[in-house]
Amino acid sequence: MSDVFRFSKTVTDGDGTMRDLLGGKGAGLAEMCRMGVPVPPGFTIGTRSCISYINNNHQLEDGLRAEIEKNLTWLEQELGKKLGGGDAAPLLLSVRSGARVSMPGMMDTILNLGLNRDTVEQLANATGNPRFAYDSYRRFIQMYSNVVLDLSHSDFENMLEDQREAEGVKIDSDISLDGLKQLIATYKKFIKEEHGQPFPEDPRDQLWGAINAVFDSWNNDRAILYRKINNIADNWGTAVNVQSMVFGNMGESSGTGVCFSRNPSTGEPGPYGEYLRNAQGEDVVAGIRTPNKIDNPDDPESMAAHWPEVYQQLLDTLVVLEKHFKDMQDTEFTVEDGKLFLLQTRNGKRTSKASLRIAIDLYNEGLIDRIEAIQKIVPDSLSQLLASEFDQEAKQQLLKDGRLLGRGLNAGPGAATGVIALSAEKAVSMSEEGLPVILVREETSPEDIAGMHASTGILTQRGGMTSHAAVVARGMGKPCVVGCTVMTVHYESSTIQMGGRRLKEGEFISIDGTTGEVLEGKIPTTSSPLLRELETGQFEAGSQGEQFAKLMSWIDDIAVMKVRTNADTPADARVARLLGAGGIGLCRTEHMFFGEDRIQNVRKMILAHDEESRIEALHALQPHQEQDFYELFREMDGLPVTIRLLDPPLHEFLPHEASLIESLATNMGLTPSAVRARVRDLEESNPMLGHRGCRLGISHPTIYRMQVSAIVGAVNRARAEGVDAQPEVMVPLIGTKGELDHVKRSIEPIIRESGLEIPIGTMIEIPRAALTADEIAESAEFFSFGTNDLTQCGMGLSRDDSGSFLPLYIDAGIYKRDPFKSIDQKGIGRLVKMASEAGREIKPDIKLGVCGEHGGDPDSIRFFHQVGLDYVSCSPYRVPIAKLAAAQAGI
Ligand code: ADP
Ligand code: MG
Ligand code: MG
Repeated sequence: MSDVFRFSKTVTDGDGTMRDLLGGKGAGLAEMCRMGVPVPPGFTIGTRSCISYINNNHQLEDGLRAEIEKNLTWLEQELGKKLGGGDAAPLLLSVRSGARVSMPGMMDTILNLGLNRDTVEQLANATGNPRFAYDSYRRFIQMYSNVVLDLSHSDFENMLEDQREAEGVKIDSDISLDGLKQLIATYKKFIKEEHGQPFPEDPRDQLWGAINAVFDSWNNDRAILYRKINNIADNWGTAVNVQSMVFGNMGESSGTGVCFSRNPSTGEPGPYGEYLRNAQGEDVVAGIRTPNKIDNPDDPESMAAHWPEVYQQLLDTLVVLEKHFKDMQDTEFTVEDGKLFLLQTRNGKRTSKASLRIAIDLYNEGLIDRIEAIQKIVPDSLSQLLASEFDQEAKQQLLKDGRLLGRGLNAGPGAATGVIALSAEKAVSMSEEGLPVILVREETSPEDIAGMHASTGILTQRGGMTSHAAVVARGMGKPCVVGCTVMTVHYESSTIQMGGRRLKEGEFISIDGTTGEVLEGKIPTTSSPLLRELETGQFEAGSQGEQFAKLMSWIDDIAVMKVRTNADTPADARVARLLGAGGIGLCRTEHMFFGEDRIQNVRKMILAHDEESRIEALHALQPHQEQDFYELFREMDGLPVTIRLLDPPLHEFLPHEASLIESLATNMGLTPSAVRARVRDLEESNPMLGHRGCRLGISHPTIYRMQVSAIVGAVNRARAEGVDAQPEVMVPLIGTKGELDHVKRSIEPIIRESGLEIPIGTMIEIPRAALTADEIAESAEFFSFGTNDLTQCGMGLSRDDSGSFLPLYIDAGIYKRDPFKSIDQKGIGRLVKMASEAGREIKPDIKLGVCGEHGGDPDSIRFFHQVGLDYVSCSPYRVPIAKLAAAQAGI
């Protein structure tokens, strides 16, 4: 089957569903053609050909050339023009990359292909516009030399700048016709010297060179890095779109722009974009000239004011595209002499705020249903909604102190504070030192990706809301201010100048990506407005809180797997409940032991010589524990609270500093050396596999008994006040049924005597427990998979020590992901699956949950859903993410 697909008004072979074959751009072009949207015709060479080209020693597959020639002939007939020219205007082409998912600016595109010393004259004659013809030729040579001949972009920019200076003009479009001709001669001379061969004159040669270069660009460094950061497979390949050119650089009634169908920062409905008159392709995104707004009717330079008819046509087209794709669209367009053409459409990237609003609005507008709305939001993006912002008071103070340095465009919402880094490399190295970093650049380019990734915020001097910096930062969820023209970056002296001040690399600045402000100094951050709105419990119509609550209620209606939270304090529990947690899946009681008012007694309890003094210390601890549990029950009124009995090695609670040891000794009536000796006794060489978990409960039964008594006391107190306390007791680190039975024999009588019914279950975190889950299920009312320890023990991989080699494993592809972040589905996941099945075999209604970090990871959540677990439990701020992921997994 042919791997070349035509698109035009009359014939279109592909369609919008064929992203894998055609790439996103090719699929979008095909679909637009089918819809009757004006698109310059062309054809797409599929992604399969890219992979075969790479595997075939960088040669086009047999027969592909002939296939392309055939389609070229078709395109020539379609347009009545010929590549290489002739009597009519020559056919000119763009050769555009386009992978399955969009990789903005990562791969290469060449415009105006087909121009040479003859066709440029033909173009000049046919259009009566020689300046335009030579401008196009100049651009083509420059792009082609960079992409295909591998010559440096900046050398050409320098020659261009020299020409501007020679003529005393500021912008490229003011260079004279003679100047352009002169410049082209300079370019060609330079190419011959640097490249060793003259610039290719034959348009066929140009085309083959361009196609190969686009295929090769799949493996350029920045594309490889981008794929790595974004988890994109290396074997997808890119398609090549060979498309007839339309020209935005034909004069004042031509232009080019990018436009979203809704605001990608806020989600507000209506067009949102920028355009430039008399400009081509990349000029808007490259941030070389600052573009004008599409839709501000008050601005005489806006598209709405300048070209009202074309503007209206663009609006109508955006509405048609949204209705069709059922999502916010990000489009590229060109206006050639008053005629509108769409060059690209895709579902637009957006901030999480916009993502939530757009999903709800599209539902309200009747374009999508609830299920589709739930599917539209990327779970991880919700974390941004809860991201902190500047402490307003501290910010006001800085403003009062006159430390506002200036303002730019608010390109990526959120607040960030960090030290200035003036290069991507510096940003990476400073962040490795543990510093928060703001990457500050004149403008960013794809080479800066690693630095942007390492930074907490991004600030640029030039460029608009759709510049590279803005698009990439929003995608990464980083606060970003662009087009901060009051700032000058001095790379040579490693300083920036702004607001009458000079700041050095390494000094602190703060940027507010929501307002565009840039301030000198450090500002503490506070919780998100959404969280604060949720805390008030009342939402205004259309507010973010209302949108969020709506989404969560839709999720509750459909989600199969529930989400609980890991919380040890009432404050955490409250946040988690506000965010939709259905209970506590893991309360780590040891976290309560570190409180000021109790650690002394914990230490006394641990160091006690005899049972009597141990019991005494435990008695002193019990009221604290009871109070803690009581408060948790109150917060979680009506919802289950799983309390894990003491888990970590006792040694972790003991003091090591001399002064602390002394005060403890005084307190206990012992000598410091006696205390020290006891501390030493408790040291273990492998504490994670040592005296911890249920082993403590077995060797020191009084500890667990105290904890269970405290639970019972707290339940009674809570219930007496009308609070519906729902405790569950969880025994950690069980490896055999015998251990669980032993612990149960010790604590069950306390529960029985109280007359309460409190389920006792166990963590499954030792591989042997997973392997013998059928036996253990006889004694456990629930299982909670402690996937952190299960991963640690199951993979024989110390969580605390694997940092030195784990990154290497991931780089080398031995592990696809960090197994502590996303569960190893094949191995550890298999243990979870086996144990679940074995448990259910014995006890069909046994409750199954997960309480490791994996409970907040969308990929792991999808897996747990497939296994059929009842719930996952995760940290409070990840609850909405987990809920959304769980709901999506069930769709
Ligand atoms: P990217 O994926 O980096 O955005 P594109 O292939 O979309 O690269 O092209 C880069 C720029 O060139 C865009 O602004 C696009 O609109 C413009 N462009 C591409 N093809 C054509 C064409 N046939 N006519 C006019 N402009 C084009
Ligand atoms: Mg594009
Ligand atoms: Mg554990």
